[in-house]
Amino acid sequence: MTDTPLPPEVFGLKIHPEKPLVVIDVDEVLGLFMRGFERYVVAQGLEMRIDRFALFQNIYRPGEPRHIDMGHGRQLFDAFFDCDPHTMDVAPGAPEALARLAEHASVIILTNAPASSRAARARWLIDNDMPYPLVIGAGPKGRPVAALASRTLGPTAFIDDLLPNLDSVEAEAPAVHRFQSVADERLRPFAPSAPDRHARHDTWPELADAIALALKLGQPWSGWSGIIAKPAEPRRR
Ligand SMILES: [Mg+2]
Repeated sequence: MTDTPLPPEVFGLKIHPEKPLVVIDVDEVLGLFMRGFERYVVAQGLEMRIDRFALFQNIYRPGEPRHIDMGHGRQLFDAFFDCDPHTMDVAPGAPEALARLAEHASVIILTNAPASSRAARARWLIDNDMPYPLVIGAGPKGRPVAALASRTLGPTAFIDDLLPNLDSVEAEAPAVHRFQSVADERLRPFAPSAPDRHARHDTWPELADAIALALKLGQPWSGWSGIIAKPAEPRRR
């Protein structure tokens, strides 16, 4: 079903052969993609009405009841990455949490951003204190995650906002601990989840705690709840 070749970085990156491994998505996990994309879309004279978990189907011409078509959405998406993808804000608490995880685990960023955006995406990560190795993938993430996980004897955690990617990892690498996280508060109510199969934690302090616990990253980890999320987020239940 998936003939997409594995990204070559999967085999070339240095990964500690015994440490735990954290493989993590960018958009809506480390960065608030939708907010950045919305700014771009608005600058093009369009508007974003977030009423579903979708990218292009939330974009409208002002006053029109029907969202723009997929072709137009894809055009905007590509232009956004070509033009200025790095107006994206950081998910609150993400750099601090990754820094703590990286004290005990290898951290790899796995994003399905367009390949042409590699340099800009790497720069965004570095500029925002997340200077971890970057893998640009395409398609379901199960196979690349399985390949990465096979390079260490330690346990692996995978974090993504998209249910299909989590399902794909479950199918290809069932031993990998899977976590869903949706950084944009507006998208959270609409995000399809399967909490019986993939734990869900939408804020970084909670997520980091859960990852540390699953990977048995040592003690004490009680300090995780002290991660400063800026701005502070109210608990949502
Ligand atoms: Mg994502």
